[in-house]
Amino acid sequence: QIDNYNVSQFKNYGLKEELLRAVKEAGFEHPTRVQAESLTHALLGEQLICQAKAGTGKTAVFVLTVLNTINTESNKVECLVITHTRELAQQARDEFLRLGKFMKSVKVECFYGGGEPVSVNIQTIETVKPQIIVGTPGRLKDLICERKALKVDRLKYFILDEADTMIEDLNMRKDIQDIFLKSPQEKQFMAFSATFTESSRTSLKRFIADNKHIYEITIKPEQLFLDKLKQYYMKMPEALKFHYLRQILNTCKLNQCIIFVKSSEKADALVTELKKKGEESVRQLYGGNRLGPDHQKMRQKTYEQFRNGHFRLLVATNLMGRGIDIDKVNYVINFDMPDSLETYLHRVGRAGRQETNGVAISFVKSEEETSDGKKQTDDEVLQQILKQYPDKLQQLPQDLSTLDK
Ligand code: ADP
Ligand code: MG
Repeated sequence: QIDNYNVSQFKNYGLKEELLRAVKEAGFEHPTRVQAESLTHALLGEQLICQAKAGTGKTAVFVLTVLNTINTESNKVECLVITHTRELAQQARDEFLRLGKFMKSVKVECFYGGGEPVSVNIQTIETVKPQIIVGTPGRLKDLICERKALKVDRLKYFILDEADTMIEDLNMRKDIQDIFLKSPQEKQFMAFSATFTESSRTSLKRFIADNKHIYEITIKPEQLFLDKLKQYYMKMPEALKFHYLRQILNTCKLNQCIIFVKSSEKADALVTELKKKGEESVRQLYGGNRLGPDHQKMRQKTYEQFRNGHFRLLVATNLMGRGIDIDKVNYVINFDMPDSLETYLHRVGRAGRQETNGVAISFVKSEEETSDGKKQTDDEVLQQILKQYPDKLQQLPQDLSTLDK
């Protein structure tokens, strides 16, 4: 099933001429299904809780909505987009810039922890006077609630991307609530993700006044599966993972590949091992400050270089598991199994964006253990995936060259 609504045209949504030009230049021929389903409602100012599978263009739903309806003459902050990682914040900012390219007076800024110092953010706010701000919860809370440098009393849009993961993280949730309380009651609330649990939905609805209609887009679990993504698993002892990884790297046609591991320590170890074997085009990416005082700068650089195709293998933690859209990534390898079905769906969605072909391979550790805070063993997670999606995941074949056929 193709997600493009061929019957639908961007020009039927009453979008500004400048936006239609930018949409065309971005190469969007038709709205995707989620865009076709939600744009009309979003453009009318409705409250939106929007679920659609990975890589199907949720970002453009809020970017086009905001750009079409925002007051570009204003020098007040009208739109706040909150994301769980700085990489995702930058990506959303870039989509505003790309689709807002022909709208001269739109000003978008991006604020997050570990990037520019707060003082620089404050200066930017005062001099640039952006109407749209994209950022991560902690830094935004600091700017809005603590330093009171960012005024949100004229806010018209309150947008949460990857909303479920932020609402399930108690710290982020608290920050978001504090920010929310500073904003006016009358505004448009929009939340996006590929996955929502019942409880995250309920929590999100508390942000919306009782008398307001909520337009909800939900998808059935079976529809969350990316049909063009080939998915494989293989049970093996921990000690054999590296051997199989190298076989895959040597045999398969990887453009770019994200290799997910469970910890930053493990990411470092794996990169070292790969380099020892002569694999040069590999780097690691994770949060924290393990790499010293310049960790955040290096993280940013690594991310940008990977985006720009400077190296082919990225060994990353869950930090890169959601939202990130890099079209050259055609392989995802779960070197360590994720700890839930949701995390699995998000991670493998990094390959096969826009429903293109991709391959995801998961290593399922055969030893039984639920240490390091994991709730389920690898095999339990695998069984959960197989139960939800029977016949979709196959055992990794002996002949790895068949993966690219
Ligand atoms: P999601 O947030 O749903 O995972 P994204 O918003 O990151 O997906 O979009 C995935 C990719 O699809 C991006 O590269 C985006 O530019 C592209 N895209 C979005 N809408 C369209 C469209 N209508 N036609 C073609 N490509 C699109
Ligand atoms: Mg997204």
